[in-house]
Amino acid sequence: MTELKKYEIFINGEWKKPNSGEYLKSYYPFTGKEWALIPRCNETDAHLAVSAAKQAMEADEWRSLNATQRGHLLRRLGDIIEKNADRLGKIEVQDNGKLIAEMGMQCKYLPQWFYYYGGLADKIEGAVLPIDKPDTFTYTRHEPLGVCVMITPWNSPLLLLTMKLAPALAAGNAVVVKPSEFTSASTLELANLVKEAGFPDGVFNVVTGYGPEVGEALVTHPDVARVAFTGGPMSGANVYEKAAASLKKVSLELGGKSPNIVFDDCNIENAVKGAISGIFAASGQTCIAGSRLLVQKTIHNEFTDKLVEFAKTAKIGDPMLPDTQVGPVTTQPQFQKILGYMDIAREDGAECILGGGRPTNPECGDGWFVEPTIFAGVDNKMRIAQEEVFGPVLSIIPFEDEDEAVEIANDVIYGLASGIWTGDIRRAMEIPKRIKSGTVWVNTYRALSYIAPFGGYKQSGLGRENGQKAIEEYMQTKAVWISTAKETPNPFIMR
Ligand code: NAD
Repeated sequence: MTELKKYEIFINGEWKKPNSGEYLKSYYPFTGKEWALIPRCNETDAHLAVSAAKQAMEADEWRSLNATQRGHLLRRLGDIIEKNADRLGKIEVQDNGKLIAEMGMQCKYLPQWFYYYGGLADKIEGAVLPIDKPDTFTYTRHEPLGVCVMITPWNSPLLLLTMKLAPALAAGNAVVVKPSEFTSASTLELANLVKEAGFPDGVFNVVTGYGPEVGEALVTHPDVARVAFTGGPMSGANVYEKAAASLKKVSLELGGKSPNIVFDDCNIENAVKGAISGIFAASGQTCIAGSRLLVQKTIHNEFTDKLVEFAKTAKIGDPMLPDTQVGPVTTQPQFQKILGYMDIAREDGAECILGGGRPTNPECGDGWFVEPTIFAGVDNKMRIAQEEVFGPVLSIIPFEDEDEAVEIANDVIYGLASGIWTGDIRRAMEIPKRIKSGTVWVNTYRALSYIAPFGGYKQSGLGRENGQKAIEEYMQTKAVWISTAKETPNPFIMR
């Protein structure tokens, strides 16, 4: 048997063994076989990492850098990531089983966040206020928050971390990251690159292991100022509650049950591709999955036939091959969960018109594969339409007109993203106003950029990532009052 790659944790610029002395196995979803060992951290490791980050915040080496110098470090990190993008992409595939076509592209795109926020670092300006008091000079400064904890899920570990890390570092914070226990390798590899870029020790730290064992110890630590979390709604609510006890600033990027709405005036060929990319890309393991396909009744049958025909052509198999279109799902529990939801959909009366189980293709071997699956005749009240499956399972829900489409679209607890397919400019302008989601795509789907704010309405989350304002989520504002009066006035009266 080949030896497993053994990782350690990264604290204060050094690799350390976990306090428990224990390691968790990381599996390659394509083969179902372990390939790496990840430290199983506990509270002691969490406290050590927070203490290193706190010291880095207080030390001159980081604090005395001006914003231009911080921006320079971020841009250097972007360059180093670019050089390592192919390698990082393969590590991501090894851990989460997503396609090399997607993870490779994602890793090549990461540097843009470091360039963008590196450029923004020295453009955050305070203001001199036209204050209404005599003999007073009042101005604002924007300061970092302090120690920021970042907790990430398994589906896109580096991308989801980068969306937090780049603005946090640009703002001058120090960071402790806790990646998913299923996919920690790429974040640990990133630590080497952060060091190579020249960030002072302690500014970036990584601990690994289970949420309740090490994540919670970070979230409840009194020296942590901010928690940026991406993950499932239940863990998110738990993190929010725990962080509230010490009034930490929290952002949550949680689940979704996004509607992809197809009107009868759309370009059908384009909309079919949009529906496919919404649900079968990344084997449906994306928070923005367009898992509810709302199709206008007038084109329902024609559209469904074309969709099924197209979906049947998807090439399923080895995620490391550049032309594979559907890979395995990331974890064994997730694999079981998805199959369970298929049973629930059938029991609730939905009709399975494609897939519906585990594929038997020889290319899939022992991997955790699920067939691209489509259920027709879904009622929006069914569990398959209300609950996040996080797999390649699409529900088709017919609708009559605009009002009904909007009503169904909004009738879930989530509000992360949505899609609209139409050739009518009025619909393209008006329907986005009525949909309760943080992102609305019109005649496109699954587009993401460092420039456009991203986040959820309703139970899909709190706060926004990406875009200029995201840097403010990692800063706090101070008002400084300087008196220029010769004499201090009556001390018993508020000025
Ligand atoms: P998860 O909630 O199980 O785990 C996410 C992270 O939280 C992991 O690192 C985990 O160890 C940690 N965690 C779990 N319990 C914790 C606790 N009590 N305290 C601290 N940390 C804890 O989610 P997952 O299964 O890894 O990821 C899938 C979920 O993530 C889906 O619901 C998906 O929609 C969501 N997601 C959201 C976005 C978004 O941007 N909105 C992006 C990707 C994924």
